[in-house]
Amino acid sequence: MATFYENTLQQIQRAGEIMDLNKNAEMVLSQPQRIVQVNFPVKLDNGEIKIFTGFRIQHNNAAGPYKGGIRYHQDVNIDEVKALASLMTLKCAVVDLPLGGAKGGITMNPHDYSKDELERITRTFVQMIEPFIGPDTDVPAPDVNTDEKVMAWIADEYSKLSEKNVVGVVTGKPILYGGSQGRFDATSKGGLFVLEELLKKLGKDPKGLTVAIQGYGNAGSNMANLMAADGFKVVAVSDSHGGLHCPHGLDALATMECKIKEGSVENCGGSEYQPTDGDTCEKISNEELLELECDVLVLAALENQITKENADKVKAKIVLELANGPVSADGDHILEKNGVIVVPDVLANAGGVTVSYFEMVQNKQNFYWEAEEIEEKLKKNMGKSWNNVAEAKEKYKTTYRMAAFIVALRRLQDILVLRGTV
Ligand code: NAD
Repeated sequence: MATFYENTLQQIQRAGEIMDLNKNAEMVLSQPQRIVQVNFPVKLDNGEIKIFTGFRIQHNNAAGPYKGGIRYHQDVNIDEVKALASLMTLKCAVVDLPLGGAKGGITMNPHDYSKDELERITRTFVQMIEPFIGPDTDVPAPDVNTDEKVMAWIADEYSKLSEKNVVGVVTGKPILYGGSQGRFDATSKGGLFVLEELLKKLGKDPKGLTVAIQGYGNAGSNMANLMAADGFKVVAVSDSHGGLHCPHGLDALATMECKIKEGSVENCGGSEYQPTDGDTCEKISNEELLELECDVLVLAALENQITKENADKVKAKIVLELANGPVSADGDHILEKNGVIVVPDVLANAGGVTVSYFEMVQNKQNFYWEAEEIEEKLKKNMGKSWNNVAEAKEKYKTTYRMAAFIVALRRLQDILVLRGTV
């Protein structure tokens, strides 16, 4: 099976062929500019010393400072971070932000460590990558298993090392410490906005459309909430332990509260959590959730979830990629052949980096906007980007993924030419 990075390169190549991308630009964009790998010791609570491995990979900064999340997960590896960094360059270009692409991560299961240990691991990681990050060079953000608390530690450690207050070194911070209104659910809001535009185009009403959501963290749980409020019927959700299927629709908020209490959505089938009259919920596996009969499948967990092994079994009519790279290149071909519409990650989840950009701007001016202003700006930018992608789709008679890649590659090619790089 092709790796995640190979998949991403294949997709760049395919879009490049459709749009006749300058070969030198393709060469430049087919490898990261800098790979930083660090190995560092941290003292655990029991006095033991453990070596951790972390990465920061800076893919391309032609359009502006590098930008991208930091992930804590046992499967973090160089191939994954390279792929995620490349997708960030493309994503920022799809939504026309003056930012480049990067990604980082530490290979560990954060659930194995105490809060104090996670803080020491985070601060030591910042000490190791400090020469490479900064508000004008590379600005990390939250990703899988990192949140506003981790971002606050990063900003604090970086500020101590710099001997001044530099909150702008990361985004996704708590509002009290330089964060932006609307960042916590920006990824989901952007995704919902794009989905609504697609439904308008298809002449469909969200009311009553059934939805299954894989992943119930930041992106997935906020999406469930927003979709339920918009009239969709969320019938299934899952997390890394397993899933829950409630055919009559589930209560997104109650499920979130229950997940915090019970550890997983799969334990939330009781009537006290699912108040819909006459409903019974059952546990399902992650595999079953992906193959469920539904109108919209939202992928909000990890990469490579739909591959050539299971793509033929997907029954949803629309797949919305809130996660990065959840459909492999092979899987994508099969979905396309079967007429499943895929709204690609570089557009569907770009609301997060868009509001992160707004956070950078607010940090620079040290003046903060109201939630309404953020929402209005987010909608405007997502709307413009949707129109650009929809137009490219018509022009090149291709998929939304290829159209989004074409919009991004065209912009990056033009910048590289202007700068004299190619
Ligand atoms: P998170 O850590 O908050 O949540 C991840 C969720 O996925 C958790 O509920 C976890 O249990 C679940 N999960 C993990 N492995 C799974 C599996 N095999 N099957 C089912 N569920 C599984 O992370 P997040 O920030 O919500 O990120 C999720 C995805 O969205 C990632 O691909 C991330 O890169 C992408 N994304 C997030 C943001 C953001 O703003 N948070 C922005 C853009 C893209």
